[in-house]
Amino acid sequence: MLRRLILYLSTAVWARRIVTGWGLARRVARRFVAGETLDEAARVTRALNDKGLAVTLDCLGESVNKAEDTAEVVSAYRAVLARISADRLEASISLKLTHLGLDIAEDLCMGNLRGILGDAQARGIRVTIDMESSAYTENTLRLYRTLRDEYAFDNVGIVIQSYLYRSEADMAALAAEGAHVRLCKGAYLEPAEVAFPHKADVDASYIRLMRAYLEAPPPAYLCIATHDEKMISNAESFIRQRGIPTDRYEFQMLYGIRSARQEELARAGYTMRVYVPFGAAWYPYFMRRLAERPANLWFFVRSMFQR
Ligand SMILES: Cc1cc2nc3c(=O)[nH]c(=O)nc-3n(C[C@H](O)[C@H](O)[C@H](O)COP(=O)(O)OP(=O)(O)OC[C@H]3O[C@@H](n4cnc5c(N)ncnc54)[C@H](O)[C@@H]3O)c2cc1C
Repeated sequence: MLRRLILYLSTAVWARRIVTGWGLARRVARRFVAGETLDEAARVTRALNDKGLAVTLDCLGESVNKAEDTAEVVSAYRAVLARISADRLEASISLKLTHLGLDIAEDLCMGNLRGILGDAQARGIRVTIDMESSAYTENTLRLYRTLRDEYAFDNVGIVIQSYLYRSEADMAALAAEGAHVRLCKGAYLEPAEVAFPHKADVDASYIRLMRAYLEAPPPAYLCIATHDEKMISNAESFIRQRGIPTDRYEFQMLYGIRSARQEELARAGYTMRVYVPFGAAWYPYFMRRLAERPANLWFFVRSMFQR
C-alpha cells in the first residue's frame, strides 16, 4: 500500500515540485545519488574502483518531451564516455529510452542511441538500456534487438524485470540470442494483469529466471542486480554447484545500498558493479528507492523532524 503510494508520488508533478524544493530532500537523496555534476560522479567512480568495484554511470532523467532536449542528453552521455576514457575508469553506462526521446518518436530515440553506442563502442565501453514501466517493454526490446542485430553493436545490453509475467519467455529468447542481460525485480507500479502482485512470486520468478540464464550457452551473460541476500546466496550456491565460470555473470547493486556487502562480494572474487546515478533530475529515482524500503522513508521523515 505504502509502496504503491510512493510510486504514484514518484510520477506526480505536484509532488516533485514540493519534494525537490526541500533542501533536506536533496541532502537525503545524496545517499543514493553521486552528485549533480560529472566531476562528482567521476570522483565517486574512482573511489569505488579503488575498492575493487566496477561502476555503471547513469545520467539521471526520464521522459523528455522536446526533441532539442534529447540532444542535451546525448551530449551529457558523450561527456561521460569521454571522461571514462580520459580517467581510465572501470565503468560502463546505463540509459533510459524515454530520456532519449522514445515518447516523442522512435526514430529520434534510435538516432540518439546510435550516436551514443557508436561513441561507446569506439572507446570499448558497454551500454545497458534500463527497463522502464511495462508500457515500454515491447519497444525497448525491439530497439535493443535492432541495435544489436541490424546495426551490429556488440556493446549493448538490456534489462529484464522478474515481476513481469512475460519475462520468462523474454529471457528464454534472449538466452538463445546470447544477450547481455541485467536481471532485476522491477521498480515500477504495475497492474496485476502484467506483473506478479505478491513479492513471494516476484522472488520465485527471479530465482527461476536467474538459474536458467546462468546455464545459457555463451556469449549469454547475466548481471544479477539485487540487494536481496536470498537471491545473492541462491546465485552463489548455484554458481558453485554448477561450476559456472566467472566470465559469464556479475553482481550489481545500487550506489548507497548495502555498500559493505558490495565490497565483500568484490573481495570474494566476483565482479561487482555499482549503479551510480548523478545529475539534477534525481526525484523519480529517489522516490523509487524510498518505495523499495519503508525504513528509507522513516529515515527521511525522522530527518525532517530532527531539523
Ligand atoms: C544495478 C541495478 C539496476 C537496476 N535497473 C533497473 C531497471 O532498469 N529497471 C527497473 O525496473 N528496476 C531496476 N532496478 C531496481 C530493481 O528492479 C529493484 O526495484 C531494486 O533492486 C530492489 O529490489 P531488490 O532485488 O534489491 O530486492 P527487495 O526485495 O526489494 O529488497 C531486498 C533487500 O534489499 C535491501 N534493499 C532493497 N532496496 C533497498 C533500498 N532502496 N534501500 C535500502 N535497502 C534496500 C533491503 O535489505 C531489502 O530487504 C535496478 C536495480 C539494480 C541493483
